[in-house]
Amino acid sequence: MSAPETEFPAPWPSGEDVRISGVRAIVTAPEGIPLVVVKVTTTDDGLYGLGCATFTQRWKAVVSYVEDHLARLVVGRYPGDIEDIVRLAKLSSYWREGPVGNNAISGIDQALWDIAGKRAGRPVHELLGGKVRAAADTYLHAAGSTVEETLDQAERLREAGLRHIRLQVGQSGRGTYGATPTADITDPTAPYPGGWSVTEYFRNTPALFAAARERLGDDVELLHDVHSRLSPKQAVVLARALEPYRLFFLEDVVAPEHWSALPDVRAASPVPLAVGELTTSVTDAARLVLGGGVDYIRSHVSDLGGLTPARKIAAAAELVGVRTAWHAPGDTSPVGAAANLALDVSSPAFGIQEGHVYAEQVHDVFPGTLRIEHGWLRPNEAPGWGIDLDEEQAGRYPADHSRHDAWAAHVRGLDGGLLAP
Ligand code: MG
Repeated sequence: MSAPETEFPAPWPSGEDVRISGVRAIVTAPEGIPLVVVKVTTTDDGLYGLGCATFTQRWKAVVSYVEDHLARLVVGRYPGDIEDIVRLAKLSSYWREGPVGNNAISGIDQALWDIAGKRAGRPVHELLGGKVRAAADTYLHAAGSTVEETLDQAERLREAGLRHIRLQVGQSGRGTYGATPTADITDPTAPYPGGWSVTEYFRNTPALFAAARERLGDDVELLHDVHSRLSPKQAVVLARALEPYRLFFLEDVVAPEHWSALPDVRAASPVPLAVGELTTSVTDAARLVLGGGVDYIRSHVSDLGGLTPARKIAAAAELVGVRTAWHAPGDTSPVGAAANLALDVSSPAFGIQEGHVYAEQVHDVFPGTLRIEHGWLRPNEAPGWGIDLDEEQAGRYPADHSRHDAWAAHVRGLDGGLLAP
């Protein structure tokens, strides 16, 4: 294929003739969660790359950003100029650093790393300097509407070999984050009887962890996600209440609007804090890592703009003693999960990796999808990410508007006021 023209050539010669020939965003929802993956094709027959651009709450906007805005900047470029292409994509919007744009850029960035790996014939983690560990230890999520249900699930995860488990228990009404709500309503007189109650949360959460230590013993690491629902002072109260149960980390205690309070919260907290799945820029993440308010940085890599910015955050974290815990639930594509793992196995700052057990239909759509074994994730040793995309299979799972909207709209307090979902 002859090289397509570009209006935006790099002002330096490129070593090889290969050029980017096309950029497409593919959306598929094999688990009902819209996943966006960018496919970058090249003038070398059969050489292409895949990158995760999943912003499941606003996926249509990401598709437009990739195809209507970024493709024209990228097609015709030499795919090895990753840093320059990513900088061009970012700086050319003038205003920058939002989740739509960064996910779109991540799709291209990760696809270019995939291409770089395939051209070198090596997995991406080798391009990042190679392994510093064999595998990433992961945690999975145990949740139920009651303490007993939650701990039943935690025991099943222990039996599957997990050494780290995140525990969430439901509350009355619409419940708490990450767990099935219970049917009972604690206060039927409230303006929003199904609303979330901080009083109930402060009673239930230490009780959950007391029961967990009793039943699971001390030989397991326990985690908990507050999902941004507390004020800075409430965060300290909860952290102190949880001290006897030796949490591995307490996650997202306050909303991003209050991150400036994190150094004080951390100084007063007897348990390590993990923060940052809502970072929407490398600048946000760098402020958290360097600001003294976090023990684990927990960004969603595609929300930072891809592997290129995320590896800088990992490097900064290494220098100041912060650990990484990249966000990776079901709204990360298997390509994004492979990018997380490339960072995990190549970064000395690695702390823990959130895991997701993909349904079998995801493995059909994305051949090569990684599987957690006894809690461990081992990287593919195939060139690039080692993950493919079967477009015919992907087409069997069309995306609709995210179920997230319906969930987020109902997370309110007893007085009816909206809360951080
Ligand atoms: Mg979280």
